[in-house]
Amino acid sequence: MNIILLGPPGAGKGTQARLLVEERKMVQLSTGDMLRDAQKSGTEMGKRVAEVMARGDLVTDEIVIGLIEEQLTTSSGKGFIFDGFPRTLAQADALEALLTKVGKSLSAVIEMRVDDEALVERITARSTCASCGEVYNDNTKPIPEDGKCSNCGATEFKRRADDNEDSLKTRLMEYYKKTSPLIGYYYAKGKLRPVDGMGSLAEVRHEIEIQLN
Ligand code: ADP
Ligand code: ZN
Repeated sequence: MNIILLGPPGAGKGTQARLLVEERKMVQLSTGDMLRDAQKSGTEMGKRVAEVMARGDLVTDEIVIGLIEEQLTTSSGKGFIFDGFPRTLAQADALEALLTKVGKSLSAVIEMRVDDEALVERITARSTCASCGEVYNDNTKPIPEDGKCSNCGATEFKRRADDNEDSLKTRLMEYYKKTSPLIGYYYAKGKLRPVDGMGSLAEVRHEIEIQLN
């Protein structure tokens, strides 16, 4: 089974993808994570996209399609979870062609629906464990009082360069202009599975499970 998690920044795509990886042994393909890794390791491409990402703009289709192509041909597992990809119609077309090329197909597109006000609140309060990537929220899931990650015990936490109000405005605008048309695109293909993303982690996880079965 190969699925897309579709939704605005802060919808909970990454969090749910991590749960699906754990429980269903699927493989998470997050273009955001791949691009941040490229920045961390200081590759030419990483340097080129750093500013674009910090502003909240989209990286070129060519770059992210290249990243996905590389992963599709080298990773294996019980299905792929596309997280943060595709984000444009051109990327959606490219994904279809790539999947066909490797003899796979798309099972479902989970659309995670969250109110805009909640997105702003979630993202400006977000931090993650520098070691394992566990996601925390200052209001709803604060870093434990002993300063240790509840998942791995590490003591370093970080905030993303683009998790500030200005970049978030740009990211939301990019989402509505370029990514939200994918909702209609996948609806027309009969692949769209809307899920209420406002519930607890477990509730959303449960709704996704229902949509996958
Ligand atoms: P979020 O969904 O919370 O905004 P991501 O980690 O998915 O965060 O993406 C962070 C940034 O990485 C985006 O704002 C964009 O600059 C870049 N990016 C990630 N995936 C794509 C993509 N498929 N196409 C273009 N840019 C992307
Ligand atoms: Zn951790």
